[in-house]
Amino acid sequence: MAAAAPVAPLWGADLYQGTDVAALNFLEKAWMNWYIWIGNPVIATGLMSFLMHEIVYFGRAIPWIIIDSMPSMRKYKIQEDRVPTPEQQWKCTRYVLLTHFTVELPQIWSFHPLCEYLGLATHEVPFPSWTKILIQIGCFFVFEDMFHYWAHRALHWGPLYKHIHKKHHEFSAPFGLAAEYAHPLEVLILGMGTVGGPFLYCAITKDLHILTVYIWVTLRLFQAIDAHSGYDFPISMHNWIPFWAGADHHDHHHMAFVGCYSTSFRWWDHFMGTDASYKRYRARQAEEKRKAKEEGLEWPTKPASKTATGAPLSKSAVHKKVQ
Ligand SMILES: [Zn+2]
Ligand SMILES: [Zn+2]
Repeated sequence: MAAAAPVAPLWGADLYQGTDVAALNFLEKAWMNWYIWIGNPVIATGLMSFLMHEIVYFGRAIPWIIIDSMPSMRKYKIQEDRVPTPEQQWKCTRYVLLTHFTVELPQIWSFHPLCEYLGLATHEVPFPSWTKILIQIGCFFVFEDMFHYWAHRALHWGPLYKHIHKKHHEFSAPFGLAAEYAHPLEVLILGMGTVGGPFLYCAITKDLHILTVYIWVTLRLFQAIDAHSGYDFPISMHNWIPFWAGADHHDHHHMAFVGCYSTSFRWWDHFMGTDASYKRYRARQAEEKRKAKEEGLEWPTKPASKTATGAPLSKSAVHKKVQ
């Protein structure tokens, strides 16, 4: 019996043989047209993934750069005595762009073959339902938060900190752009929490569309950039979702160097007792704000005297500040 001829990979319009185009919505048609226009699905997925990452990352960081340049916003700054300089922001931008193009771009290019291998839908239309998308994203948030808590704690172990994680802690008073200011190995290790959830989910269920992964990555980038913003507004999410971590939580990690290891939620730090220093410090700061208000002083009571870098406060200094 003759061996079956190998099936040629489908390209461009051939990907959509048998698709009922009339039943597709506007977004689904645009998605289909992108894959037809680019032709090669590996390039179509790779290019879309890279562009999405760049547009979301810098698009979300720009409002924080503007806020940093507005003195009227300083009353919402968590480390009220520290503001990043334009030089520090530019240095950070250059480094982040360099790692995006040299470390992340080659990985993103291998994304489509990996998706195919795991059975993750890429060019396929129609999209899954919103209910399915939301449930899957909820699972990814919980998985990433757990993964990040333990991997991040491990990165604070002496040798790993010295050779890998120290780079990310260069800014002890972070700002939006600093979210991905990290050693390439750190991007790889902690990035596993972001893509590992979808890959694991897909390997088990074989029911995941890359659109869901894009929405998840967008929300995760928003979370990471906002957590590094250095600002806490009355409308910030953690003020109406009590278990959401936000900038209030992660800013303290950069300032105190220990504790508050998780990304999106507060429960791991709460149950492991790694947020004790944070709670004491915030209570003290709230007291200072209350006293300033009582005395009719405007917060912050002192001008910003430090920039975004500098050694994180030593344990004893944090202890002293929170007493
Ligand atoms: Zn850290
Ligand atoms: Zn950070």
